[in-house]
Amino acid sequence: MSRPDDADRASLLTRIARQYGTPAYVYELDAVASAAESLTADLPADGGLLYSLKANPHPEVVARLLAGGAGAEVSSSGELAAALAAGCPPDRIMYTGPGKDPRQLAQALSARVRCFSVESPADRDRLADACGRAGVDAEYLVRLNTPRGSARGSLRMTGRPTAFGTDVANRQEIAALLRPRGRARPVGTHTFSASNVEDPAALLQEFRNALAAVRDVCDAADLAPQLLALGGGFPAPMARPGTLARHPDLAAGLEGELEAAFPGRHRGGPRILFESGRYLTATAGTLLTTVLDVKTSGGRTFVVLDAGVNVLGGMSGLGRLMSPRAQPAAVGASDGGEERAVTLVGPLCTPLDVLNASARLVDPRPGQLLAVPNTGAYGPTASLLGFLSHPGPVEVVVEGARVRSARRLAVSSEEVAPRV
Ligand SMILES: *Cc1c(COP(=O)(O)O)cnc(C)c1O
Repeated sequence: MSRPDDADRASLLTRIARQYGTPAYVYELDAVASAAESLTADLPADGGLLYSLKANPHPEVVARLLAGGAGAEVSSSGELAAALAAGCPPDRIMYTGPGKDPRQLAQALSARVRCFSVESPADRDRLADACGRAGVDAEYLVRLNTPRGSARGSLRMTGRPTAFGTDVANRQEIAALLRPRGRARPVGTHTFSASNVEDPAALLQEFRNALAAVRDVCDAADLAPQLLALGGGFPAPMARPGTLARHPDLAAGLEGELEAAFPGRHRGGPRILFESGRYLTATAGTLLTTVLDVKTSGGRTFVVLDAGVNVLGGMSGLGRLMSPRAQPAAVGASDGGEERAVTLVGPLCTPLDVLNASARLVDPRPGQLLAVPNTGAYGPTASLLGFLSHPGPVEVVVEGARVRSARRLAVSSEEVAPRV
């Protein structure tokens, strides 16, 4: 099924807003599937692809990606439950995260997850303890903090202090991590050096740097790795117009880098895995929001929406996930008026509730329906859902022009009994 054309799409979005109210996220499953097809086609043919659930754990989005052949990268019991509920076989799950809680580890093991990315000796020992208690074996990848390539793809390397992984310079610690502990056994490495890398040459450079570091580490420990999780960094437009970039040269470039680092890889060398959240989901989502007020102050026009940082981009202040630059467009016919600069704000009682201090809109007016494109990744999950206690957004899943489901996200609390 193809994506509906512009007029059909506007009428679908208008109908959804009328039937379910706003703010509402609309997720188009056809777009999820086609993003996965594009990325799979652009990666080496024998590379596995994991979907990073933190970008969007909606059950139907996860199910569509898993049905298309992706595995799951999860880092909490909630994400694990979402992957399992979507039908992910446990042997296609990689469990990651810098602070794995022993209870959540035990849950993962009892769900038959057997592949973990470990970040430090303490993290590895906790996994080994959990394996011992559960009476099962597990495999792990040692997450490395590798030198970064500069954004321009030059050869200059710059490391960075981070809570993720173990610095490659820390040879002793890495050597220790590459020895088995109890029922936990190392099988390779995990590297993930950058997100949303827009320049294809810089993206390949990130992989090249990572692979060189992986090669060094494996050589030093005399380890023939069986599995390398190489992360991702595949870019996507976020909350503004744009389409997914393709990477026609990436597969061949990666093949070359892999062959250089692990000659003869196809004859018993390591399997490789990639991870992506935003590329797989960003362009499949649209946030529908209604203009509640238009006012001026000090010469600026403020457009007050029913969606604020509680619904979109609440973590933008933290940097990496999304910039606070949502650029919506009116849904349906426009009268072709003059575009002007406006400040887009949400309904929250805080001056921080700004979605874009320099958006451009034609003739904004109360009641108008706006659509923020490319909001399928890091939408609700990366927002301040609990802040100010507004109702959560509705999430509507569509396939072609058919609405498959509509649910409202809610923050709830449950009674907790004392542990002892
Ligand atoms: C968040 C995350 C990803 C996904 O990042 P995107 O930029 O959404 O593709 C992949 N791997 C790991 C380990 C992550 O933490």
